[in-house]
Amino acid sequence: MPEYQAPLKDMTFAINELADINLLNGLPGFEDATPDMVGAILEQAAVLANEVFSPLNHPGDEHGAFIEDGLVVIPPGFADAYRQFSENGWQGLSQSPDYDGQGMPYLVQSAVSEMWVSSNMSLALCPLLTSGAIEALFAHASEALKQTYLAKMVSAEWSGTMNLTEPQAGSDLSAVRTKAVPDGDHYRITGQKIFITWGAHEMAKNIVHLVLARLPDAPEGIKGISLFLVPKYLLDSEGNVGEHNDLKVVSLESKMGIHACPTCVMSYGDQGGALGYLVGEPHNGLACMFTMMNHARLEVGIQGVGLCERAYQHALAFAQERVQGSIAGQEGRVTIIHHADVRRMLMQMRALSESTRALSYVAASAYDQARRSLGNEAGQRAQRRIDLLTPVAKGWCTEIAQEVTYLGVQVHGGMGFIEETGAAQYMRDARIVTIYEGTTGIQAMDLVGRKILRDQGQAIGELIAEMKLFKADLDAQGDEFKSMQARFTSALEALETTTLWYLEQVSSDPDLPGSIAVNYMMLVGYVVTGWLMAKSAIAAKRIINRGSNDIFYRNKISTATFFCEHIVPRAEGLKSTVLSGSVSTMSIDIESF
Ligand SMILES: Cc1cc2nc3c(=O)[nH]c(=O)nc-3n(C[C@H](O)[C@H](O)[C@H](O)COP(=O)(O)OP(=O)(O)OC[C@H]3O[C@@H](n4cnc5c(N)ncnc54)[C@H](O)[C@@H]3O)c2cc1C
Repeated sequence: MPEYQAPLKDMTFAINELADINLLNGLPGFEDATPDMVGAILEQAAVLANEVFSPLNHPGDEHGAFIEDGLVVIPPGFADAYRQFSENGWQGLSQSPDYDGQGMPYLVQSAVSEMWVSSNMSLALCPLLTSGAIEALFAHASEALKQTYLAKMVSAEWSGTMNLTEPQAGSDLSAVRTKAVPDGDHYRITGQKIFITWGAHEMAKNIVHLVLARLPDAPEGIKGISLFLVPKYLLDSEGNVGEHNDLKVVSLESKMGIHACPTCVMSYGDQGGALGYLVGEPHNGLACMFTMMNHARLEVGIQGVGLCERAYQHALAFAQERVQGSIAGQEGRVTIIHHADVRRMLMQMRALSESTRALSYVAASAYDQARRSLGNEAGQRAQRRIDLLTPVAKGWCTEIAQEVTYLGVQVHGGMGFIEETGAAQYMRDARIVTIYEGTTGIQAMDLVGRKILRDQGQAIGELIAEMKLFKADLDAQGDEFKSMQARFTSALEALETTTLWYLEQVSSDPDLPGSIAVNYMMLVGYVVTGWLMAKSAIAAKRIINRGSNDIFYRNKISTATFFCEHIVPRAEGLKSTVLSGSVSTMSIDIESF
């Protein structure tokens, strides 16, 4: 089975040429993030990903996670890999130096997260959830809670979870029923949570659960939810791990993919109430939750990137070895990579993988710019940009991961359907990424509602204006870029037309947002990635013109050209779908279905 090799060249290219690392290292606190330093960090991460995480991925899928004698058993090697991850300080890469983090931009974290996911998604989910919990505590917890918990989480000595979902409360968290009753300086939590990722395990010495619950006087609905920190083990007066809290794992879900990741049904308060501490203000759990969720949404977008890359590498290795059929002009039988249709699939996988990386890293850079330029005009603009791009990075990259992992199986033929080759695992693992942290539908509704309508198209207008400026740049390139120019021009026009049409029509049709949201979000994704891939081609050309003979840059232009010719035209089909509005979608009565 081919092991993963981190695509350091493409990562570095995206970081330097698209996500503008030199802009970030000019911002306060990011001075150390020079291209050399970032390159060294990526190389170190690649060693752990390639040599430690990756070999555990397929055996981990076969072994799975299960409960034995009340404890969660995970695959052999995972605890040791997590120990190496923790001891080398990877959890704290982009966390605040105030809590022993290294303060690197989130952009660098994104590239490193991509490697963890590509090499072993099940294992990577544990630090991902910890990061979300750290972000929420950093932004909303009291100083005392931060001092007690953050440094241990930043070192990964303790892991973190997000406990939102209950059987009746999935996308709709207003239905949360878990209760929190005040008891002295803390609260007693009772209730059941389902689908809790890495909710129970023995890799970390403690688990810090962030739990959504309702206070006794809470108003109905989403405004009555509060957030609580509920540790697996309570702490003694010195801050050391002590007595077990009143919480337990009831069972593990039997799942389609990510078999090595324990997805837990958790019960709180069977013995009278788990001890928890309020995070943020009472009834303000929604704001805290959004800090956690926005961060996790970007990270799940990165999962899409990591899965695309791994599936592509796997399919490529197979296509270079599998002998089948012949082609005109060549003696004897050939490896399947010689067939034009297999090349089409590999190009599609390669181009889509690179485009998801481009989009996710550019989004991460906007996130960093917004955080470090608070208050000034550039910072506000970056905030509008990241607010706009978050649902697209999550929704689009994870939908694309379905296509790429599907193609990975297809390149393998029958062997793709047989588990031993490993291609099927990526397809199964990928299936969850369009669902958790808000389904594709929920991301798309966020885009057309909160991100397009609420500001009456300001943020998307700024993005379209920037892409128009770029178009002038692209048009000034020679004939080599002619097909890119034509395809990008049509796609950009499709985005502008549908956006203006939507803003005009929406007030007269309540079904319009829901009917068009996903197609509109995919359209935004294809246009933005068309822009970024064309931008990559121009950057590669510039480097070639400066004298580089590295084939990477020539191939980048070819991949970007393929992307604009074969993928970007999907935008025009989506324009037509969006402009069809809601009528035929809603034309059959519920009773007639
Ligand atoms: C493996 C796994 C790990 C998970 N990890 C965690 C975790 O660590 N912590 C946690 O709290 N949760 C976790 N979840 C839960 C996950 O976030 C939810 O499954 C997800 O948010 C969707 O909720 P649901 O399953 O109840 O689906 P539903 O909300 O019932 O959705 C069903 C369908 O209806 C659509 N829909 C629902 N509401 C609307 C609406 N208003 N408008 C339009 N369409 C709508 C959805 O898009 C979807 O297609 C996990 C789930 C899984 C499977």
